[in-house]
Amino acid sequence: MINIVLFGKPGAGKGTQAEFLKDKYNLKHISTGDLFRFHKGNNTELGQLAKSYEEAGKLVPDDVTIKMLQDEVDRNPDTDGFLFDGFPRTNAQAEALDVFLESKGWKVDATIALEADDEVLVKRLLERGKTSGRPDDQNEDKIRTRYQEYNEKTAPLIEYYKTQNKFHAVNGIGDISDITTRINAVIDTLK
Ligand code: AMP
Repeated sequence: MINIVLFGKPGAGKGTQAEFLKDKYNLKHISTGDLFRFHKGNNTELGQLAKSYEEAGKLVPDDVTIKMLQDEVDRNPDTDGFLFDGFPRTNAQAEALDVFLESKGWKVDATIALEADDEVLVKRLLERGKTSGRPDDQNEDKIRTRYQEYNEKTAPLIEYYKTQNKFHAVNGIGDISDITTRINAVIDTLK
């Protein structure tokens, strides 16, 4: 069992890299952003609740997000591990994840952060917004709100994981395959 948190600002490439990593290491990829979009698309109660937060670029409340994440983990008992993408994003989420994994005899093995400058990322997101259809990718103000949320609520987790010696920073600029190689090098040290 190996559990990895893919960390980084919106647009850092977490989803792109997760696609490669999940196959290579046989991990279940859980993206809370994708789950919220799935619920929104299906107009579930959870989707209706998340919609206003997501579209404004704000974080969905912790209790709802944590419950959704736990349900998704419980739905996948036979995996070799999890790749958490976009979760945790607050201290409460990180603490809840530790407690939840521990209750199963598991832990977060590493947090791998994809690093890139805000200005590069804003350009990437606006470009992605042209094809993704995501309202939160199409408006620069909303993108900036997402970075504010990140700086206020998510950035403190860097210290949280550093204190546990689990934080690994990776340069998120360059060819996709080069970035995958950098991440693989970190994961291979965990085995
Ligand atoms: P993402 O695709 O990861 O950029 O997430 C899109 C949106 O979904 C975010 O802007 C939030 O509104 C919501 N979301 C995703 N993950 C979380 C999380 N861990 N905590 C709170 N809100 C989240």
